[in-house]
Amino acid sequence: MSIEITRGVCTGCGKCAAVCPGSLIKLAGDAAVIERPERCWGCASCVKECPAGAMALYLGEDIGGLGGRMTVKCEGGLLHWRITMPDGTPKTIAIDSRVSNRY
Ligand code: SF4
Ligand code: SF4
Repeated sequence: MSIEITRGVCTGCGKCAAVCPGSLIKLAGDAAVIERPERCWGCASCVKECPAGAMALYLGEDIGGLGGRMTVKCEGGLLHWRITMPDGTPKTIAIDSRVSNRY
């Protein structure tokens, strides 16, 4: 599975469920859960949408992530990708979401 949801941080707002193109996320009580996680292809749409930072993209060894986790927060038009490596080393990458998909 590419996605991790931290219970206790998730507020149950449902934004992740609304954007998942595979309709894989449901609300169970006051928290989001992924149903059929084997169908998740790691598009990260839910991670980018989560206002609470409860959604993380798992960076597996197959994509060079070596087990790190990545969350994202949007502030002032910038996407701040926060990576935490398995040893706790932090790294932040800021991307201007207004121009990031221009070709
Ligand atoms: S990464 Fe994409 S496919 Fe996977 S749960 Fe999130 S929105 Fe759905
Ligand atoms: S967007 Fe974040 S806070 Fe809202 S339901 Fe999904 S995981 Fe929880």
